[in-house]
Amino acid sequence: MATVQPARSLSRTKVPSSSEAARLELLESYIIHHEDLARCAQLSLEWLARHAGVRRSMCVVADEGRLIGVAGRGVAAEDVALFEWPLSDAHDPLTAALSASRPTLLRPGRTGGNGGRPVPVTPMGAGQLAAIPLRGRDDDTALGLLLLRPGVEAFDHLSWLATVLGHKLEQLLGRGSLAEELRKLRHERSLLFTIINAVTDPILLTDTEGRLIVANARAEKLFAAGEEESEGRRRAVELNNMLFSAALSRSAVEGPSEARELLLVDPSEGSDLLFEVLSSTVEDPREGTGIVSVLRNITDLRRATEQIEENYQQLRALEAAARAERDRLNLIIDSVADPIIVTDSVGQTVLMNNPAEELFTVPSDPAESAERNVQANDAHFSSFISGLLVGDTAPGATRRGDIGLVNPQTSEPIPVEAIAGKVVSETGELGAVVTILHDRREALERVSLYEQLKVASDELQARVQAATAELATQNELLRRQAIELEQASRLKSQFLANMSHEFRTPLNAILGYTHMLLQGVAGELSPPVRRQLQRIDSNGRHLLTIINEILDITRIEAGKMPIQLSEFNVNEIVPEVMAELEPVVARSKLAVTPKLAPEAPPLRNDRQKVKQIVLNLLSNALKFTHQGGIEIAVQYDSGTGVVSISVTDTGIGIAPEHHERIFEDFRQVDDSPSRQYGGTGLGLAISRRLAAALGGRIALRSSLGHGSTFTLTIPVEAPQ
Ligand code: ADP
Repeated sequence: MATVQPARSLSRTKVPSSSEAARLELLESYIIHHEDLARCAQLSLEWLARHAGVRRSMCVVADEGRLIGVAGRGVAAEDVALFEWPLSDAHDPLTAALSASRPTLLRPGRTGGNGGRPVPVTPMGAGQLAAIPLRGRDDDTALGLLLLRPGVEAFDHLSWLATVLGHKLEQLLGRGSLAEELRKLRHERSLLFTIINAVTDPILLTDTEGRLIVANARAEKLFAAGEEESEGRRRAVELNNMLFSAALSRSAVEGPSEARELLLVDPSEGSDLLFEVLSSTVEDPREGTGIVSVLRNITDLRRATEQIEENYQQLRALEAAARAERDRLNLIIDSVADPIIVTDSVGQTVLMNNPAEELFTVPSDPAESAERNVQANDAHFSSFISGLLVGDTAPGATRRGDIGLVNPQTSEPIPVEAIAGKVVSETGELGAVVTILHDRREALERVSLYEQLKVASDELQARVQAATAELATQNELLRRQAIELEQASRLKSQFLANMSHEFRTPLNAILGYTHMLLQGVAGELSPPVRRQLQRIDSNGRHLLTIINEILDITRIEAGKMPIQLSEFNVNEIVPEVMAELEPVVARSKLAVTPKLAPEAPPLRNDRQKVKQIVLNLLSNALKFTHQGGIEIAVQYDSGTGVVSISVTDTGIGIAPEHHERIFEDFRQVDDSPSRQYGGTGLGLAISRRLAAALGGRIALRSSLGHGSTFTLTIPVEAPQ
C-alpha cells in the first residue's frame, strides 16, 4: 500500500504566528490550486495537522450516490483512493452524518445513531471517529465529510476549515466536468498504485529535499512504520530514511543518473540489504521537481559476485599450486639418480633426465665409438618399449625387463633393469610411456657378495655346530664328574662321621679311665704322675672337641641335625654359657659382663643349639682377647619381633677382607703352620649353619686391632 506521508520539513515550516495568517495561507493555496479538488482537500488536511494537531484525517465527498475518498493524511494513499461508501441506506452512520447539522461522533462496538448498524470500516482504522459535514453555502445535505479522531484542541480552526473546505467543494463539484475528472483521476491513481505495487523493486518519489511523497509497497516496508509497530522496526525505518536521504543528497552532487549502491537494514529481520539506487528527476507542473528512485536489491547479486571472485581466487591458487607441483616434479625427475625417459605414443622421446641423457645422447666431446654406442642403446630401448606401444592400452600396464646398455664414452657394459608404465588419457588413448632404468651393476655385485657371505656363513654354522657338539660332550663329562664328586663328598662325610664315631668311643674310654685314675681309684698318685695324667685328660678333651665339631659339620651337611623345639627364656642362656666357660674366664683374667633384656618374650626354638652358638662366640672372644673385657648383650626389638645376642670383645679384631672367609669350613685368619691360636676353623662355620637352621643369622662388625662384635639374631618363633 502506498502512503502519502506528510512532508517532514513542512511540519517544521514556520507559519505566521497569528491564526489569521495561517488561514490566509490556506486560502492562498486554494487560489493557486483553484481547479484541483483532491489537491485542495489534501492541503486542507495538512493544514489541519499543522495548526490543529490532527495527525490522521480523511476527506470524503458524495458523488453519484456514494462517498469516495479524495484525500488522506496519516493513512494509506491507496486506501483513500480506493475508498467507496454507498449512500443508499439512510440509517447508515456515514449517510446519517452527511445529513446531520453538527459533527457526529461514531464509536466502535456501539450501534449507530439511527438504525443500530456498526461503525463503518474506513481507512481511518478502528476507534472513535468524528465525522464533520462539509457544506456548501445553501445546501442542507453536506457535500462531503471530514473524518478524524475526536479530541482536537483547536476547535476554532477545525470548524473554520470545515466551512471553507465545504465552500471550496461546492465551488468545484458544481462543475460537472470536474466531478467526472475527479473520477477519472481516482481511477488513474488506483491504476498507478496497482502498477507500482506490482513492481518488486522499491520505488519512491521524493521532493528535491529528500522528503518522501509516494512510495510503493516494497519501499514502504523499508521506509515507513506506523506508531503501533515495534520499536526495533521503527528504528530500522528511521535509519533507512537517513541513509536514503544521504544517498540522494550525494547523488545530487555527483549526478542523479548514476547508479549507486546503498546499504539498508531489513526492518523485519535486521539483516543487511544491498541496493542499487537509480534516481531520475521528474518535473511536475503542480508538484514541482521531484526525484523518482528505483532500488534494486543486489544483495544476492553481490553475494554471487563475491562467490565468483572467491572461486576465481581459489582457481588462481590451484593453478599456482599445479605449476609449483609441475616444477617440483621436474626437479624430482632431474634429481633422481636413475635414468628416466618419457616417450610419446609413437615411441619418440619427449623428456629425459640428466642420467638418461648420458646414455642416449652423444656427448659434446665424443669418443670414437660414442655415436655407435648411443645408437645401440637407442635400439635396445626402442625394442623394449615397442611391446607396450602396440599392446593393449590398459591404464597402469607395466613392463619389466633387463636391457644390456653401454656407457657411450667408455663402452663399459651397463646391465639395467627397465620398468615402463603407460600413461593413458581419460578416453583410453595412450598418452605417454614412462620408463625408469635401474643400473644393476651394484645389485649384481651385491648378489655375488651375498653368495660369498652365504658360503662363509655356512662354514661358520658348521664350525659352531661342531663346537656345540664338543661342548655337549664336555658338559656331559662335567656332569658325570659332578655326580662322582658328589658321591665322593657323601662318602667323605660318611667316612668322617664314621671315623669320628669310631674315635669318640675309645677316646671317651681313655678320658673315663684317666678321670678314674685322677680320682685316686688306683691309689694315691705321685705329683709327677698326676701332672702327666692331667695332660692326657686335657689333650683328650681337646681331641674330643675337635671330633665333636667334625661330627657336627658332617651331620649338618648330611641333613641329619634335628631341631628340638622348646620354649625358653633367652636371658637364661647367658649365665649358663658363662658358667660353662668359667675356668677359661678365670684363666684369661678378663671381665665378662652380661647385659640382659628382661622384656624379651620367651623364645620357641632349639635351646641347645642357641646355647652352642653363643658358647662358640664367647670362647672365640676369650681366645682372641688379651686385655680389656667382653660383653654379652641380649636385645629384643619389639618392632621386628627379633631377639639378638651379641658378643663384643676388645681383642685383636678381624680385617674386613676376612669377614666372610672366617665363616667357611676350616678357615682361620692365620692358617699358617706356625699359627699362634689353636682351633679347627670349624666353630663359626657350624654356628652360621645352625643359625640358618634356627631361622636366624650371624653378623660381624670388626676391624683389625679394635675388637669384634658377633651378633646372633633369631626369631621369637622358629620357622616351621
Ligand atoms: P677356630 O676358632 O676353631 O679357629 P672358628 O671358626 O671359631 O675356628 O674361627 C675361625 C677364625 O676366625 C679364627 O681362627 C680366628 O682367626 C677368627 N676369629 C673368630 N672369632 C674371633 C674373635 N672374637 N676375634 C678375632 N678373630 C676371631
